Order: sequence, then structure tokens, then C-alpha cells
Amino acid sequence: MDESEVSPMHPPSDEAKRAAGPPGTLTLVATPIGNLGDMPARGIAVLAAVDAVLCEDTRVTAKLAARHGLAPSLIALHEHNEDAMTPRLLARLASGERLALVSDAGTPLVSDPGYRFVRSAIAAGHRVTAVPGPSAALAALAVSGLPPAPFLFLGFLPPRAGARRARIAELARWEAAGLAATLLLFEAPRRLGALLADLADVFGAARPAAVARELTKLFEEVARGTLGNLARRYAEATPRGEIVVVVGPGAGEAAADDAAVEQMLRAALARGLGVRDAAAEVAAATGRPRRDVYARALRASGRE
Ligand code: SAM
Repeated sequence: MDESEVSPMHPPSDEAKRAAGPPGTLTLVATPIGNLGDMPARGIAVLAAVDAVLCEDTRVTAKLAARHGLAPSLIALHEHNEDAMTPRLLARLASGERLALVSDAGTPLVSDPGYRFVRSAIAAGHRVTAVPGPSAALAALAVSGLPPAPFLFLGFLPPRAGARRARIAELARWEAAGLAATLLLFEAPRRLGALLADLADVFGAARPAAVARELTKLFEEVARGTLGNLARRYAEATPRGEIVVVVGPGAGEAAADDAAVEQMLRAALARGLGVRDAAAEVAAATGRPRRDVYARALRASGRE
């Protein structure tokens, strides 16, 4: 038994054993993101039945389990011991033990530990399954009022201003290349104002956005608006609690199409075509309205 393990109080029932799947199964169990009533019922059955629960912080998981009358064997699995623990945990699965993996809150692996271990368990041929449930990112997306698909989950951006701005600039390049997705970001309250200001600088103050704070908790709040007005709002007062930032999609394909049209026009002009002929050729090739392409050709030729 691992040093950080705590023994169970009750042997699991047959029904609970079924919930944990066949021998050698690893189950990823989502847990509440604030409201304890959100614990999935099947997740409770799995925690009751497995041989051990892998968790970020044994104290947090012990408390959650105790609320449901459980005291499972707990093993700490976090960023700093994941690689060292993986061979031992794989051996336990290979011996037929059933394991569960939880994080302190929400869906395991989503900006939480476990990915490297799960990848190894899959590679070793173990059955990996999930009890889905709370997820701050998806809850924020759903309540944001912004397009739900496609979306791009970015987790936390780098905390330092330079690296954060570089990452946002990279996203802007992806948008210029055609990405048109709603963006989901986690952020700490003390950096929210700076993040929104950087996003507004790069994506424009008018870009629709939402800040979802303390979801499922007593002081839940969803502020919907633009990057500009949200940046102003949170520059004035640092909020408390946990936060997801949702940014509406950019022009994406339309912007990329514009860039492609302009490139074709420059190439046609460089071949010696006049503005009218270049516009006619590109309008025919792209199906874009002649008038729009002609106006762009005038600009590209420097005659406007
Ligand atoms: N795995 C978790 C999930 O699926 O929701 C996310 C873990 S990540 C370490 C924690 C971050 O998620 C917080 O800093 C915050 O950005 C976001 N978060 C977690 N709970 C939240 C809540 N109740 N309301 C808003 N954001 C939350």
C-alpha cells in the first residue's frame, strides 16, 4: 500500500463493484465545481467500488467522499509525482485492480493532472472510461450566449504579461489564417483585468465576450458584453472567485477569404493586368461580387 493511501471503511456492494467496471478498469470521475449537489450519482458508486482513488489533494477528495459516507483508499497523483507513480499504478491495473481518477474539482485532465498517466494506461491496453459531469469550461460556454461550436479550449494562458501577449498574438495569427472559434480561457481573478485588456488590444474592443464567475456557487455571475467594456469593468475592481473567460469568434473564414482575394489581386496586377481586368479575373475565380473585388483592386493598385 502506498504511504499516502488511506484504507476503506466498508467493503463495496456487488452493485457498486459493477459501477467500477471489469478488473483493470480506470474510471475518470468528474466532481463538483462548487455546488456539492452536482456530484454524479454514478461517480459516487464508482468511488465506493474501486480499489483506490487517484486524486490531486487527498484532503479535498477525502472530504468529498466523506460527504457521501465513503472513505476510499486515496493516492495522491499530481504534476510532481505523476511520472514516478505511473509504473506502479499501471502494475496495479495489470493485477486486476479497479482505479478511479478525480481532480479537486470538475473534469479530470482539463487543466488538471492525469493526462500522462491516462495516456500510459491506454497505451498499456487498459480499459479507460469516464463518469462525465461538471466542467467549468463547458458550463461557461453554455451560459455565455456565444456560439457553442466550434470552440477552442485554451486553459490558462501564461501568467507573465510578455508570454501571455505572445500567445494572444499567436491566436490572432490563427484567426487571420481562418480560425473562427469561440475561445475558452481560465484565469485567476487578479489577472482578469490584464487578460481582458490584452485580448481587447489584439482582437478589438468590440469583440463579444463573457466572464463567467463562481459558476454553480452562491455568488454565480455571468457578465456578457464586449472585450472593451469587460476590460474596463474588471480594471476598476478585481473580482473574487473562480473565472472562465469566453471570447466570441473572429471573422475567421471571411477574413481569410479577404486575405486570399487581396493576394490574388496583387498577383494579377503584378502580371500587368489593369485594375478592371484583375478585378474581373479574381471575381470570376472566387465568386465574390465584382463591385467588392473592384474596390479592393483599386486599393491594391494604390489608385484609391
Ligand atoms: N478540471 C476543472 C474543470 O473541469 O472545470 C478545471 C480545473 S482548473 C485547475 C481551475 C480553473 O477552472 C479555475 O481557476 C477557473 O478558471 C475554472 N473554474 C473552476 N471552477 C469554476 C467555477 N465554479 N466557476 C468559474 N470558473 C471555474
